[in-house]
Amino acid sequence: MSLMRNALALALAAALCCPLAGCAKGPEAVQTTIFAMDTVMNLTIYGTQDAMEAATETIYTLDGQLSVTSEDSFVYALNHAGEEGASVPDGETLELLIDALRLCDQTGGALDITAYPAVKAWGFTTGEYRIPDQAELDDLAAHIDYTAVEVCPNSGDFRAGLLRLPEGMELDLGAVAKGYTGDRLSALLREAGVTSALLDLGQSSIQAVGGKPDGSPWRIGIQDPAGDGCLGVLELADQAMGTSGGYQRYFEQDGVRYWHIIDPDTAAPARSGLASVTVVGPSGLVCDGLSTALFVMGLEDSVDFWRGHPELDFEAIFISDDGSIAITAGLEDSFSLAEGCTQQEVTVLS
Ligand code: AMP
Ligand code: MG
Repeated sequence: MSLMRNALALALAAALCCPLAGCAKGPEAVQTTIFAMDTVMNLTIYGTQDAMEAATETIYTLDGQLSVTSEDSFVYALNHAGEEGASVPDGETLELLIDALRLCDQTGGALDITAYPAVKAWGFTTGEYRIPDQAELDDLAAHIDYTAVEVCPNSGDFRAGLLRLPEGMELDLGAVAKGYTGDRLSALLREAGVTSALLDLGQSSIQAVGGKPDGSPWRIGIQDPAGDGCLGVLELADQAMGTSGGYQRYFEQDGVRYWHIIDPDTAAPARSGLASVTVVGPSGLVCDGLSTALFVMGLEDSVDFWRGHPELDFEAIFISDDGSIAITAGLEDSFSLAEGCTQQEVTVLS
C-alpha cells in the first residue's frame, strides 16, 4: 500500500515538475526510474546519459553499503560483528556516521540511528507486523541509545577506524540514507556540469540541483497525509526536501494505525500529534534526519528546535493529525496551498 501511495506521490511530483515544453535550448532531459533503498526513485537530469549512469551507479553503491538488510553491506557487517566491531569502508561513510550521530545528539535523541531492533520487532522490515507487549517494548527502548555507538576507539585516524556496538544494539541509517544520497548525487552532478536536475529519491526525499532549465523553481507536491491528494505545493531550487509521515509505511490492527517512525523513548510508533513533517534546506542529510526527528518531537518542541538551531539552516512544514498546517517563516513565499485546499488556514511560525 505504501508503495502505491508513494508511486502516486511520485506521479504527482512528476506532473507538477514537468519542464515547460519548448523551453530554451540546453541539455535535453534524461529520465529514469529505478528501485533502490527499498523504494521507487525518479531521476530527471538535464545532462548526458553518462551523468545519469554515474548517478544511478552511485545510488546502487550507497544502497549496497548502507542497507541494513543486505548481507554485503557495511551496516550489516557492523550489526553482526559483535565485540570485534567493523571497519568503516571509507572516509565518506565515516563522515556520514559522524554527521548522523551529531544529528542524533542535536535532536536530543529524537533521531536515534540505533532504533533498528524496535523497527524489526514491529515487523516493519519483513511485513510480518505485530504489536510487542509492554515488557518487550521496555527492553527494546533500553537498547536504543546512539551514545553507545563506539566510533574509532583508540584511533584518531578515521579512515583506519572501527565502529563497535554493544550487545543487542543494531544500527540503521534508514532515516538519513536517502537524504545523504541526494547530497552525494547533487555534488556529483554539479561536478559533471549539470545545473538542472530533480532527484526524487522516493519516500519523499527530494534533491533539486538548480531550478528548471528555464530558471524557475521546481514545484513539488506536498501530500495530504489523510488522503492520496496533494495538499500544498513547495517551490524548490538548489535545495533538499525530506518528508516523514505516518502514512508512508504502516499497518492497522483493531482500527489503530501503527507506523514506521519510532519514538526512541518508548520503542513504539511516535504519536506526537503530527501527521507529517517536511523539512527543506541545503543539506539532504539534515532534511531527511530532521523530518524523522521532528515527527517524533511534535509541533511545539519542533518549533522550539527550529528557533534554537539556526545553524542547521532548515525550514519546515508541519501537518497535524487534525489537518492543520503550520510553516516556518522562511517558506512563506515558496509554499502555497494546492487547488481545492485554498480555504485552509496556514499558520506562519516565526
Ligand atoms: P524516514 O522515512 O526518513 O522518516 O525514516 C524512517 C526510517 O528510519 C524507518 O523506516 C526506520 O528504519 C528508521 N527509524 C524509525 N524511527 C527512527 C528514529 N526515531 N530515529 C532514527 N531512525 C528511525
Ligand atoms: Mg528521515
